[in-house]
Amino acid sequence: MDLVGIDTRLRQSYPHELDGGRRQRVGIARALALDPEFIVCDEPVSALDVSIQAQVLNLLMDLQDQMGVTYMFVTHDLSVVRHISNHICVMYLGEVVEMCPSKELFTNNLHPYTKALLSAIPSIDINQPMQPIPLKGELTSPINPKPGCRFYMRCPYARGGCSEQPQKLEEVSDKHFVACCRVHEIN
Ligand code: SF4
Repeated sequence: MDLVGIDTRLRQSYPHELDGGRRQRVGIARALALDPEFIVCDEPVSALDVSIQAQVLNLLMDLQDQMGVTYMFVTHDLSVVRHISNHICVMYLGEVVEMCPSKELFTNNLHPYTKALLSAIPSIDINQPMQPIPLKGELTSPINPKPGCRFYMRCPYARGGCSEQPQKLEEVSDKHFVACCRVHEIN
């Protein structure tokens, strides 16, 4: 309880007596009790308000420094991704489309889906307002996807060849992998 910052007076509390942040700390404590090397954190802060999110994220990072544990952090929140990640995988319909060190992704993103995703992050800089890239078209069926690129129906750069073969991840620069056959033309 000390390690995850829960007061020991709450030792006998029931879950409904704890607030969301404390309940999340209990979840972290339960994972740490197994002394793991690797923890999968699936949307661990999405249900929390912003100030509690920051507390839980800082706790996770402190514990990582103390215990050397590795996290796989699953989230839709790009500001959280940026704050906590060393390496990032961007997924579209169940497939990794881009994978690289965190800083590289935010400065030199190469896959069309990653570009659209990051363009939707709100900007607080009035000199650089956000310029979202609109995505049109329909989603490929996730249950029975077509054989080619899964982003084909919505990609502004799609060409005939994109729909013919699955796109495989290729290393386009040091530790930077992209699954798009047109990556060099587009960038
Ligand atoms: S392979 Fe084609 S459709 Fe898929 S992301 Fe690249 S350009 Fe777009």
